[in-house]
Amino acid sequence: MYDKSVFEKTKYFIIDMDGTFYLGNSIIPGAETFIEKLRETGRDFRFFTNNSSNNVEVCCKKLKKMGFPVPEEKIVISSHVTIDYLKRNHPGEKVYLLGNERLTNDFINAGIILTDEKPDVIVLGFDTTLTYEKISKAANWMAEGITYIATHPDLNCPMAEGFMPDTGSMIEMFAASTGKRPIVMGKPMEETVNYVTNLLGCERDEIAFVGDRLATDIAIGFNHGIPSALVLSGVTSEEEYAQSPIRASVVAEDLKQLGEYL
Ligand SMILES: [Mg+2]
Repeated sequence: MYDKSVFEKTKYFIIDMDGTFYLGNSIIPGAETFIEKLRETGRDFRFFTNNSSNNVEVCCKKLKKMGFPVPEEKIVISSHVTIDYLKRNHPGEKVYLLGNERLTNDFINAGIILTDEKPDVIVLGFDTTLTYEKISKAANWMAEGITYIATHPDLNCPMAEGFMPDTGSMIEMFAASTGKRPIVMGKPMEETVNYVTNLLGCERDEIAFVGDRLATDIAIGFNHGIPSALVLSGVTSEEEYAQSPIRASVVAEDLKQLGEYL
């Protein structure tokens, strides 16, 4: 049994989705009981996903289809952190976005000015519509030293069968070509800690991160002195965790078991 004082101050659990709340198209058995436990103990939650190929609407639809409808404000995505960063640090600047239609629409709706000409800023998202033409354009501008931001660092995105190469792999491709690396948003970066605490109007010690991936979900807590819980229902095995320098405050088989610790 874990020391319950770990989450004594926690008002909001920031919960990963894939491999944490659901796997493929089904909710991981007992995951809803964790949310119920949060309600019972007077706490709240947000889902946070690094996957910038999805938008809030898609996430809500997916959860609803699985029998767990949530209001839109419960979903936070690395693209939100990126848009907020652009508005604060590059107001009015023209952005060349590598992203699919959903991400592109989110940027436009947020008032970000997009361009296909030479931009002030390049943003690399989880572009599931990436083409050689886009790669070539972006690489040339990166090489010139234009500000370059990526929505998140995940190398692969797990799928029901196999995986999809994710934004982190695209970062490595551009790095090989240009020697340039982006300013990264999403988990595990501090920009995301600040975005979440501002959004919720709370202090750092009032949130806790929950997820299945060490390099993102757990590292964001570990690197910033924020409690974190690793669930072994997704991409990380007990053996991998045993060998990792990234440490979680609590390890549980799944969300259901984590709920029992609250
Ligand atoms: Mg995950």
